Amino acid sequence: MRQVVILGATGSIGCSTLSVLAMHPEQFRVLALTAASQTNKLLAQCLEFKPRFAAMLCPDAAAELKAALKSHGSVTEVLAGPDAITALAAHPDADIVMAAIVGAAGLLPTLAAVEQGKTVLLANKEALVMSGELFMDKVEQHGATLLPIDSEHNAIFQCLPLAAQQAKPRPGLVQMGISKLLLTGSGGPFLTRQLNTLDTVTVAEAVAHPNWSMGQKISVDSATMMNKGLEFIEARWLFNCAPDDIEVVIHPQSIIHSMVQYTDGSVLAQLGQPDMRTPIAHALAFPKRISSPVKPLDFSQLANFSFSKPDPERYPNLYLAIAACAAGQGATTALNAANEIAVAAFINEQIRFTDIVRLNEKSLAHFLNYAARSLDDIVALDFEARAYAQQLVRTFN
Ligand code: NAD
Ligand code: MG
Repeated sequence: MRQVVILGATGSIGCSTLSVLAMHPEQFRVLALTAASQTNKLLAQCLEFKPRFAAMLCPDAAAELKAALKSHGSVTEVLAGPDAITALAAHPDADIVMAAIVGAAGLLPTLAAVEQGKTVLLANKEALVMSGELFMDKVEQHGATLLPIDSEHNAIFQCLPLAAQQAKPRPGLVQMGISKLLLTGSGGPFLTRQLNTLDTVTVAEAVAHPNWSMGQKISVDSATMMNKGLEFIEARWLFNCAPDDIEVVIHPQSIIHSMVQYTDGSVLAQLGQPDMRTPIAHALAFPKRISSPVKPLDFSQLANFSFSKPDPERYPNLYLAIAACAAGQGATTALNAANEIAVAAFINEQIRFTDIVRLNEKSLAHFLNYAARSLDDIVALDFEARAYAQQLVRTFN
């Protein structure tokens, strides 16, 4: 029986994880669930999965949860605050930690799990974008097992040679006989929209992804393709490769989740429904396989697959992220922070859709050559870049 902690249990990935776990009560037990402030959702999850612990970021929400659980006769222990979330990520009884908090807020709890040598299922790509080098060093130093949940990275992982999937540290691409990683992306909801109408995009239009159902922030990132940019940086660290080894390919159908090109000309792809419960089930059971609630592909029903190159004019955020990746950890931390502020400002209708890239561009130019090596440097730069971006928001409205 493996004990699982879910960071970000009430989110899209958190709920998908619980729906896979519900199918396998004989193999997994939920040790702890954490969330920011959605008391009712966490309450329902606690009553169904009976974790030993639950933690909420917001103390008022935690107090409400505690009272509600007590009235239901539940014995789940309720904790409050960011340190409690981090402590649960590092709990001695945890075997698997699902890192599914959105944004930079996930960094410290995810690193805490890594430092305890846990099996870390990484959905929280922002953590790796901010701290890639430091994060991967800690994975190696503490013997943690890092399994990608992001569907593209999970696909690439599944297409690696079997021995390399389990090797610690993972060999370089050349040693694996790989010439390129092909990172696919749908192009989001604005693949064919007239470019000169992008500044009137509404929040509802931006979060309406054609193939995937996800949280708000990643949905906006998918519309700007910053999501693919963050994934480019994520791939660079997860697979220990250079930016030139990664190519982004638009595949609007989202059935191929990414591909690996070998030096002999072979290309291996992982295919499946655009449903996160497949990569989640894969990572939970790795190296075995378990069932998931995802329906199988029906090739008689699949339309043609198509592929194209992402247009820099349509997706400037993607290319900003690629430039930040080449510049280093300071640049990626600052760009990630700016983007979180920009996306939140767009969702709050303070700036236009097309202002997101303007704000990101200005922020990246300002912080391009900042160095951030230690965790303290990264946290301080994240704070500084947020303040800078926040002040830019005011200049846009
Ligand atoms: P979401 O917004 O649906 O959920 C976020 C979760 O994090 C919630 O449980 C929320 O309570 C919690 N949270 C938010 N801020 C917090 C804070 N400051 N402290 C503690 N907890 C906090 O997001 P999501 O779509 O599930 O995405 C989660 C992560 O997974 C993101 O990094 C995203 O990029 C990544 N991801 C998501 C998908 C997807 O399909 N949704 C796919 C690939 C990767
Ligand atoms: Mg993805």
